[in-house]
Amino acid sequence: MAHLCEAAVVTCEDFRLHQRKYGRNFIADYFKRLDVDFDLITRAGCIQDLVRAQPGFDEALFRDLGVSVNLHRVKKIYVVGHEDCGAYAHFQFASRAAELAQHQRDLKDARRIIESKFGGVRVVTLFAELEPGSSDRFVMTEVQ
Ligand SMILES: [Zn+2]
Repeated sequence: MAHLCEAAVVTCEDFRLHQRKYGRNFIADYFKRLDVDFDLITRAGCIQDLVRAQPGFDEALFRDLGVSVNLHRVKKIYVVGHEDCGAYAHFQFASRAAELAQHQRDLKDARRIIESKFGGVRVVTLFAELEPGSSDRFVMTEVQ
């Protein structure tokens, strides 16, 4: 029997976003505050390889999302990029503004791709920015 779930979350595997040894779990804590159960799908760089059409990546992500959509009947998919992502290092951003702009473009592209693949599912795009002065603590913002 399938177990129904409210949402799926696609995000980066970066340890700073997940369970830390001192107790903080940024992604889990954020969705707990929203009162949302979720399937968790992690990839290095989140949806970077999807929007750049890396061979094999979209099939793997779509397979995992397909389990969430078809088996768990999720209606909402959250895509969560983050600042200072190691998988984006090759861009060698000249500024923080350039880095954030690239992520915003990628999140919007991913929303379009995923919503066209899974009809009736809404994609919410979020971005985890570093707290001022911190290299491992984030705050979440929604990307329209
Ligand atoms: Zn990352």
